[in-house]
Amino acid sequence: MIRKLVTIPDSTLRKKSLRITRVTPEIEKLAQDMIDTTLDWDHDSEYGAALAAIQIGETIKLTVVRNNFDDGEDQTFLTFLNPEIIQKSRDFTIDVEGCLSVPGYYAKVARANRVKVKALTLEGEEVRLTLEGFPARVFQHEIDHMHGKLFIDMVKDATSLLKLDDKGQLVSVDAIPQEILDAQHHH
Ligand SMILES: [Zn+2]
Repeated sequence: MIRKLVTIPDSTLRKKSLRITRVTPEIEKLAQDMIDTTLDWDHDSEYGAALAAIQIGETIKLTVVRNNFDDGEDQTFLTFLNPEIIQKSRDFTIDVEGCLSVPGYYAKVARANRVKVKALTLEGEEVRLTLEGFPARVFQHEIDHMHGKLFIDMVKDATSLLKLDDKGQLVSVDAIPQEILDAQHHH
């Protein structure tokens, strides 16, 4: 079922998500709703890489992550419960990042190059993932959602912010727009 995406400035996005203690049919249904909602959002050459439950208003530690980031035609996802970063590289890369909850904007954000993540699968099995590059970025972004953080919180000045123009091109901004300033949280 396609659900409504929670977008800025909705304060729901600032809530902290709770750990899942038991995999129930409701959780499985929710994960499917998250996949349906992400696929419904896909358009033109833009594909949703992942979604956190908070983005459809559910405050639990659940994320769905696209199986194949390089091929948007691949509509399969992996589901992770209670993901947490257990190790993070000191070296980082600044790259462009967006979010289904922050429509129309992208930003150059620094993320650790490599992370180790511990999580549960929908089968209740504990997994450890070693991620590098874009997948590492995706997990850091999703886990931030579970702590009520958004990538725009890391935008300090207009040079790191980009927006989509009418033609769907990413263009720079002269100043951080008020709607972003209003939605930012500084940690
Ligand atoms: Zn996001």
